[in-house]
Amino acid sequence: LEPAFQFMLRVVAPGGVATPAQWLVMDELAHKYGNGTLRLTTRQAFQMHGVLKWNLKKTIKTINDTLMTTLAACGDVNRNVMSGPNPYQSEVHAEVYEWARRISDHLSPRTPAYHEIWLDGEKVVDSKEGVEVEPIYGPVYLPRKFKIGLAVPPSNDVDVFSQDLGLIAILEDGKLAGFNVSVGGGMGMTHGDTNTYPQLGRVIGFCRPEQVIDLAEKTVTIQRDYGNRSVRKNARFKYTIDRHGLEWFTGELQHRLGWALEPARSYHFEHNGDRYGWVKGVNGKWNLTLYIQSGRIQDTESSRLMTGLREIALIHDGDFRLTPNQNLMIANVSSAKKRKVVELAKQYGLTDGAHHSALRRSSMSCVALPTCGLAMAEAERYLPHLLDKLEPIINEAGLRDEEIIIRMTGCPNGCARPALGEISFIGKAPGRYNMYLGAGFTGDRLNKLYKENIDEKEILETLEPIIHRYAKERQTGEHFGDFVIRSGYVKAVTSGLNFHD
Ligand code: SF4
Repeated sequence: LEPAFQFMLRVVAPGGVATPAQWLVMDELAHKYGNGTLRLTTRQAFQMHGVLKWNLKKTIKTINDTLMTTLAACGDVNRNVMSGPNPYQSEVHAEVYEWARRISDHLSPRTPAYHEIWLDGEKVVDSKEGVEVEPIYGPVYLPRKFKIGLAVPPSNDVDVFSQDLGLIAILEDGKLAGFNVSVGGGMGMTHGDTNTYPQLGRVIGFCRPEQVIDLAEKTVTIQRDYGNRSVRKNARFKYTIDRHGLEWFTGELQHRLGWALEPARSYHFEHNGDRYGWVKGVNGKWNLTLYIQSGRIQDTESSRLMTGLREIALIHDGDFRLTPNQNLMIANVSSAKKRKVVELAKQYGLTDGAHHSALRRSSMSCVALPTCGLAMAEAERYLPHLLDKLEPIINEAGLRDEEIIIRMTGCPNGCARPALGEISFIGKAPGRYNMYLGAGFTGDRLNKLYKENIDEKEILETLEPIIHRYAKERQTGEHFGDFVIRSGYVKAVTSGLNFHD
């Protein structure tokens, strides 16, 4: 008799797009085979938890039948390519989304093994031929996962500098001129091992839109060939770049491309979170961004979020967009359907998030306990309670509408991009966290360890005076992360190489 092993399934959606039909299938599968909830991830993917081993194949087959896939959602390959959630914001956003989709398609593994194992079980390739062609990944794939994100300034919602390869859209005369190229970002590290650190991507030049797929492919192949395959903790692309140097990388890239990057062009980011509420797209249709606490779609005693979204999916004539910050956009709503969507959103309390403090609306946490085997402490289940205790302090200081990026993860693997929180917590042990302060509001600076291994009491005692001082002493427009640096709480960290100094 086999134990009832449980699995997590991650479903990729390049740019985070899902049709209402796909949403309904995910909802149904979550109830039939999962734990009755869905999780929106920080990479615009779905996670379904609690799938028993003997239900895996049925679940994956149904997902594939709806034209979504779990292929390359995990593993040492290119992961879900991220881009801004609303392609209808402008023609440039639509174009950038299209490039994200094309990069994703181009870097998808070609292996037939996935289909053989999970779909119909038939051999797609005759084994005698021995052809399992992976033109980009080769026979041993990458040393470690690889992440790509595309940002359209002034929004850095994808945290472009946290990506192995970040592409920053450059607009000229309202048109997409190309992308600045950022390489070598990444969030993960290991507690107590200073050879590991979060790192920011560095901008090395500019390429034209039609060059971007070639550029992504060659960047991936350099990591394939030079990434550290002996020490897994140092296998990410950021370590390859830091070991060999940016100049070496740029030379190797240009050698493989056969053309040179142009000098980087100027750009300006203003924020890295999501903007909530209704906005009209350039196509005349409407988009509603909802705050979803920690990305968890579920019905609880106090909320009927999952039911409400199902009801909307049943009448929706547009699509759903998973944002890079675990939130959800009901997108492309026609004027004819808008009133009904407004009614359903109100009926099920979906827009109640608008009444939360800006701190809560700027929060993210990873799954952690009880689902993630790497977790050392709670994150998703605890952050809302910590926010309950921080909000009175924030309110008293008059900062209820002040966006402060706050993030929590259960371990230093960094799934909620904690090194880019103005306030962050990384789990050390049950109920204890390392606290980091001082990341940039636009995602351009890492934070720094301020207090180690502290519990809730110490967290609140530490933050309360800093928050009050920030309220009184901040300069016009000064963000919390900038203030804690100017006031000497922590030093500014603009390179991961100084993260542990
Ligand atoms: Fe990721 Fe660590 Fe959180 Fe698990 S506990 S979800 S590995 S950050």
